[in-house]
Amino acid sequence: MRFILIFLLVVCVSNYALAKITDKQLQFKADPVLTVSAKEIVKTKKVEKAKKVEKVKKVEKVLPSYEVTLLFAGDAMQHAAQFKSAYNPVSKLYEYNNNFTYFEPIIKQADIAVVNLETTLGGAPYKAFPQFSSPDSFAKQLQSSGFDVLMLANNHSNDSWQRGVNKTINTLDKMGIKHSGTYKSKIQHDKNTPLMIQKNGLNLAFLNYTFATNGIKSVFKEQTKLISFKQMRKDIQKAKSNKADSIIVYIHWGEEYKTQPSQYQKDVTAFLIKSKVDLIIGSHPHVIQPMIWQKSTDKTDEYLVAYSLGNFISNQRNLQQAGGALLQVTLKKEGSKTSIQSAGYYLSFVDRPKSDSGAKHQVLPVRLFERQVHGLKWDQYGMLLKYAVWASDFLKANNQNVYEYKLQNEKWSLTETPAVTVASTTLPTTVPKTTAPKTTVSKEIAATQKSVEANSK
Ligand SMILES: [Zn+2]
Repeated sequence: MRFILIFLLVVCVSNYALAKITDKQLQFKADPVLTVSAKEIVKTKKVEKAKKVEKVKKVEKVLPSYEVTLLFAGDAMQHAAQFKSAYNPVSKLYEYNNNFTYFEPIIKQADIAVVNLETTLGGAPYKAFPQFSSPDSFAKQLQSSGFDVLMLANNHSNDSWQRGVNKTINTLDKMGIKHSGTYKSKIQHDKNTPLMIQKNGLNLAFLNYTFATNGIKSVFKEQTKLISFKQMRKDIQKAKSNKADSIIVYIHWGEEYKTQPSQYQKDVTAFLIKSKVDLIIGSHPHVIQPMIWQKSTDKTDEYLVAYSLGNFISNQRNLQQAGGALLQVTLKKEGSKTSIQSAGYYLSFVDRPKSDSGAKHQVLPVRLFERQVHGLKWDQYGMLLKYAVWASDFLKANNQNVYEYKLQNEKWSLTETPAVTVASTTLPTTVPKTTAPKTTVSKEIAATQKSVEANSK
């Protein structure tokens, strides 16, 4: 029995040893296999890496896209009736707090809202036509109501002389609101032109010009930026070297109270389009003029011009001057290409109070108010309805691819979708030579100018 047990033990031990050897041998045998496997692994890893690179490349091909929404309003005027009605005899302050209340949601939803300040913050005594000087609180209210940029180049920029230009700039700088078009010195101009704004991944260049300064000369060339092909060419080139995704020119031009653009406006537009400006926003005529959005058939070239947005706020009362339009444009950047994603306008109307009523001027969204009186005086409500019909019919007949924002289910939405393409031949290929129309200088301005010049010698 003991013998059998010893025999069994020997068999077990030898089997174990044998098994061990076989394992080792197998392992040893497996080594070359493993070496091959390692090669394969390296190969596989390379393939995987290559696949990853491919994937990254594919991700890069799906380019990131960015959007920015811009809102442009026309002329923000300050006639005497406006600052008189804004005056609060109790606080002794000029209060504009209700002026834009109904438009605030529209202004504030834009990423960048822009308006033309057609007056100076030249200090008291406050004055209206022909040489405007308005309370600072008017500009402060524009800012509080959502405007981010004030355009300052217009025919009233120099109304309070160079002192007024400087005071306006200093006041706006203190408020922390961006501005363009007038400058305290050539150095300041060179530093701040174009006005570059970075928003939502887009780099935007804003430029601002006027056809004239009502005969009140600037002390140096760049004090108030005048329309000049030479200067514009220089500024646009600078915008391009600043790597602007979009170049926007806000321009003061045209003939007052004319609803169609003049030849001068068309010529300057042709020049700007040829220079690759993307958006051209006009003001000064105090009435609306057509808006045109066009794209070449190969989609490489595109522009939008709004010849005049009319009055944003004023005391003017003929039907066509009682309102205006605000243009909303969404720009989209995909990779290095920026294009116009959408463009539409809101109709606006100024509710003008009776001079002795104690009420204030207010800008109203036409489509919000046409449904009900909302506490408006009947004469104002009737005029608003008339303006709605006139402005809507006019823009429908004259605009190209720019439609109206209307209230649908309590939401502002575009009424039509444009199909924006045109044959590239309709984009201007040549630029006509043009000169600014002559402005008549009043005897009073000419005399004051002479005395200012004499005193500064
Ligand atoms: Zn003007």
